[in-house]
Amino acid sequence: GLSERLQETFRKLRGKGRLTEADVNEALREVRMALLEADVNFKVVKDFIARIKEKAVGQELIESLNPAQHVVKVVHGELVALMGGSNSKINMAPKPPTVIMMVGLNGAGKTTTSAKLANYLRKQGRRPLLVAADVYRPAAVKQLQVLGEQLGIPVFADGTGKEPVSIGLAAAESAVTGGRDVVIIDTAGRQEVNEELMAELEAMKEAIRPHEVLLVVDAMTGQAAVGVAETFNSRLGLDGVILTKLDGDTRGGAALSVRAVTGKPIKFAGLGEKLDALEPFHPDRMAERILGMGDVLTLIEKAQENFNAEQMARMQKKIRSMEFTLEDFLEQLTQVKKLGPLEQILSMIPGLGGIKKLKDIQVDEKELVYVEAIIRSMTPEERRDPERVLNGSRKRRIAKGSGTSVQEVNRLLKQFEQTKKMMKQFVDMEKALKKSGKMP
Ligand code: GDP
Ligand code: MG
Repeated sequence: GLSERLQETFRKLRGKGRLTEADVNEALREVRMALLEADVNFKVVKDFIARIKEKAVGQELIESLNPAQHVVKVVHGELVALMGGSNSKINMAPKPPTVIMMVGLNGAGKTTTSAKLANYLRKQGRRPLLVAADVYRPAAVKQLQVLGEQLGIPVFADGTGKEPVSIGLAAAESAVTGGRDVVIIDTAGRQEVNEELMAELEAMKEAIRPHEVLLVVDAMTGQAAVGVAETFNSRLGLDGVILTKLDGDTRGGAALSVRAVTGKPIKFAGLGEKLDALEPFHPDRMAERILGMGDVLTLIEKAQENFNAEQMARMQKKIRSMEFTLEDFLEQLTQVKKLGPLEQILSMIPGLGGIKKLKDIQVDEKELVYVEAIIRSMTPEERRDPERVLNGSRKRRIAKGSGTSVQEVNRLLKQFEQTKKMMKQFVDMEKALKKSGKMP
């Protein structure tokens, strides 16, 4: 599914430290493919990718996020925007009753959703009235009556062969006298969009003047659902869409494109056949679900909590200018301890994370305690310039002070020298790559 594809793409991206424009382009190509395969409208995909590219490449990186996390954050933000930003509620009439007209093709879920919506609104403290206006199919009236009975919500039906328009008007009147504040009209659909259906619904809207016209579409039909939404909106003018059968939709194409194509929000989502399986549609939650953001968000939060961005920038500068001292080494090791695995901290240092060799450095937690003790037993001068200052007697003093041996002090000094040398190699390599244009 879409979710898996995107997560895989970002996982690959996360393995890299600094991202080149080529890395980002490659990832966006994969995002594009994933969206197209999820049946998202191709024009929507095109605009979407263009916006992401602009933001992912052009913007300043947030200091405490690594570049891959930054890209995920940008994609998440754009997905949310694509679906309309925030949840859109039903427009309630200032003077009740609020009249809601449910429209859509046969089988989309109009009748079930009408009952679900009544159930939802009742939980919000409303007093809904359901109206059976699908007069072409006697079974449809019966279906709504059964659902109403299950819920204990009244259903207005007519047995005298009236037209849907008169039924709607009579229902609205009966709502006033019966103290009902929301009227939900279940209308007749057709197998497919045709002129007869559109003309009928237009006339009904004109006569009844509902406060909300909600289109019910089946998410599992993907782009077809988006096409239906476009037609209904251009003929009728919709206030919103209810996307049903999202529980069976693994692709997500309709959820992602309805808003962008029609300009109308998805207000609710149906997530099952049961009468409580209707939820307000939240673009941010949907985006999180699609991106499998749980772990990413946790990592980002962790990074933000533990990382002092200024400190990081200072450290990076030191590494580049090769002024890296034992004191810095200690500071870094302390950070590592706070953060967890070394690999993780390295992946967050732009320019270092992608280098495999660095990841091979093993940090043993127990050893860390000694390293820390040794460095803390040194004078500031010794920490800054160990090679020049440290002699035998000083090393013995440090070993004693830290509860270690001279061999262990020597081992640490050697490790530090090696780390410095390795860092110099990386800095040189980076300079060479930049010069040859292989790295921005
Ligand atoms: P209508 O012809 O538009 O009135 O559609 P119905 O309300 O009769 O629903 C058609 C079928 O879709 C029924 O079997 C419903 O139970 C099913 N259905 C409706 N909404 C959902 C949903 O959100 N999830 C699932 N899984 N099934 C749904
Ligand atoms: Mg029906």
